[in-house]
Amino acid sequence: MTSPAYDHAIDVQKLHKSFGDNEVLKGIDFHVDDGEVVCVIGPSGSGKSTLLRCINQLEVPTKGRVLVEGVDMTDPETDLNDVRSRIGMVFQSFNLFPHLTVTDNLTLAQRRVKKRSKADARRCALENLAKVGLEDKADAYPAHLSGGQQQRVAIARALSMEPDLMLFDEPTSALDPELVGDVLAVMKTLASDGMTMMVVTHEMGFAREVGDKLVFMDEGVIMEEGDPVEVLSNPQHERTQEFLSKVL
Ligand code: ADP
Ligand code: MG
Repeated sequence: MTSPAYDHAIDVQKLHKSFGDNEVLKGIDFHVDDGEVVCVIGPSGSGKSTLLRCINQLEVPTKGRVLVEGVDMTDPETDLNDVRSRIGMVFQSFNLFPHLTVTDNLTLAQRRVKKRSKADARRCALENLAKVGLEDKADAYPAHLSGGQQQRVAIARALSMEPDLMLFDEPTSALDPELVGDVLAVMKTLASDGMTMMVVTHEMGFAREVGDKLVFMDEGVIMEEGDPVEVLSNPQHERTQEFLSKVL
């Protein structure tokens, strides 16, 4: 294997983001390497979603740089659509098209963006539905699926674009507790298949078991980061201790 022509899959440097005079990210530095799973935790409003959205420039940073596979996302010359097509994103709300079947949800972007033939797109869709354990739902409509199944479809849809990396923003937060496990199991398989992942989550068990690194954010800064087992069992910072005492 040849080594990639970049240092990190995701490289965030001195990132600031303000909305008006509300500075939400106050100088974030961190990176994610190829095949690494980085989990991000922190209180509501600490800037986790904004950070994730700055990575694919759904939010434009006020200052600082974001490199994805070595490409500077903040450089006006960069073809954002090209880089974005290598980044899969899964949100808390599944955002499936309600009027399309599961398969059509998975083939739409493949056909439009990847210009795949109908047959190729369908083949790829069915392959990815099998990966998330839902090949029998290929012709169902989203409304007939549970929340957990819809989220697995959303993951399969992202995978159908064959991304190099995946960003998850609280993928299980909207789910009934009994449905969370199936979604986490799919994410765990993805991780063990070597997918590069950044996961904002409140699932500490997942972070501990699957994460290579855990990042604790508070008020727009990274307060603490490190090995998940270390951070969770022996948090160094008072704010981390306080947060973990509420969620663990
Ligand atoms: P988290 O995901 O950690 O809960 P967010 O990144 O969603 O935090 O939000 C951090 C702060 O940024 C919040 O105070 C929120 O109100 C503010 N914020 C987020 N997005 C916007 C926006 N589009 N416009 C104005 N303020 C925003
Ligand atoms: Mg959020």
